[in-house]
Amino acid sequence: MDGDQLYKNQTRHSQLFMEKASTVMPGGVTANIKYFQPNPIVMQKANGAYLYDVDGNEYIDYLLSYGALMLGHGNKTIKEAIFEQMNNDGTLLFGTPHRHEIEMAHRIQSLYPSMKKLRYTNSGTEATLLALRLAKAYTQKDGLAKFEGHYHGGYDEVLVSVNPSLNQAGPKEEPYSVLESKGMASSHTQKTVILPFNDLENCEKILRKKQKDIGALIIEPLQGGFIRAEQPFIEGLRKLTKELGIVFIFDEVKTGFRVALGGAQELYGIEPDLTALGKVIGGGFPVGIVGGLDDIMDLSAPRQSADVFDPSQSQKSDAADVLFHSGTYNGHPTILAAGLATMDVLTKESSNVFELTNELKEQLTHLFKTKSIAMKAVGEGSIFNIVLTNKKKILDYRELQSSDLYMRRKIDLRLMTEGIYTKPLNRYSLSTAHTEKEVEKTIAAFERVLDGL
Ligand code: PLP
Repeated sequence: MDGDQLYKNQTRHSQLFMEKASTVMPGGVTANIKYFQPNPIVMQKANGAYLYDVDGNEYIDYLLSYGALMLGHGNKTIKEAIFEQMNNDGTLLFGTPHRHEIEMAHRIQSLYPSMKKLRYTNSGTEATLLALRLAKAYTQKDGLAKFEGHYHGGYDEVLVSVNPSLNQAGPKEEPYSVLESKGMASSHTQKTVILPFNDLENCEKILRKKQKDIGALIIEPLQGGFIRAEQPFIEGLRKLTKELGIVFIFDEVKTGFRVALGGAQELYGIEPDLTALGKVIGGGFPVGIVGGLDDIMDLSAPRQSADVFDPSQSQKSDAADVLFHSGTYNGHPTILAAGLATMDVLTKESSNVFELTNELKEQLTHLFKTKSIAMKAVGEGSIFNIVLTNKKKILDYRELQSSDLYMRRKIDLRLMTEGIYTKPLNRYSLSTAHTEKEVEKTIAAFERVLDGL
């Protein structure tokens, strides 16, 4: 039986569920990223490193909610912290300043010293949005630069050249700005400049040419969490952005806590001007944090405007004097309690996750070699991806697109029938709940799948 048929046979209840779901939600999903063919798997339960679907199948979870669940499912320390917060504080939401906000800020700063001041948001998307607004206000330049293939959230300004088809993407040295969604203003092809990753010479040419318009350069220091910026490249960008008066933003929503506890900035020994965090630090809840240099962050402080009442001024000052940042749920106490518990566990146990991930990568590399298959496990810390290529290194989006994505998808579907869960073509993330036992089972499953190709 071919892999797709086997997959369909094992996920019949998921298919029925999806048929019903698509009568009430477009495509049956609440986010397009949750969809894949032939059909998504509908989950019923989870525990530790495992997911259980509506057909009764068990999976080792390597998706971990796109990397967010670094303590796995249902972690006891997080659960206790949530209940303690609710019982002690007597509320889920103060809607006022409260102690967890300060405590978390100090904890973040101990790992991310570049985040001199910070603000909370409700998602990674909101975090990069605020970082970009701060950068543009600070530099008084309203354009931004980002890299081809890098994702920073779902709003128009950054939804440019995230996953462009190679025949639309333009020359490698100076990629086009390709809009990723219907309904976007065409002005984003001008305001959002696209740079080639790991190509300092051409980045410098573009940035020098457009420096008057570009207020911010935002980067995923490891694209998708696994394609590493080369050290001289990222050091060169740090120097260049300082010289050209461009705010350098590390989007560490994916890499934060995962490539190292102190994120990519710890890995590279580089301090960005601003950092966006998310995912892991919510302990499974939606969260985002933006932090960085005092001068930039202080732009979001309350000013003479709607925020500060000055009786000597009969009229409000200009709206443009204010950098707007707000949100009903910013700094949510329960979420921060879950985040603080996550930090407690990670300070003690993150090195185990990093070691186990390394071991899994090494064993996979060995297996690929013995099977003479051109596959690689590429990544840092607790995330990696599997790339089918003969190349020694994957340096950017275009190289990844040129790898054998067709075969990778086929392998991913077959692995799901062997109880290994990651959405097709997605990365592998590990958690404190994964152990040697899961590594062993994973290697055995890979071996069966590769033998059956
Ligand atoms: N930035 C990066 C690097 C991400 O990987 C993501 C999400 O995957 C985001 C931003 C957006 O975060 P969220 O999904 O929490 O809005």
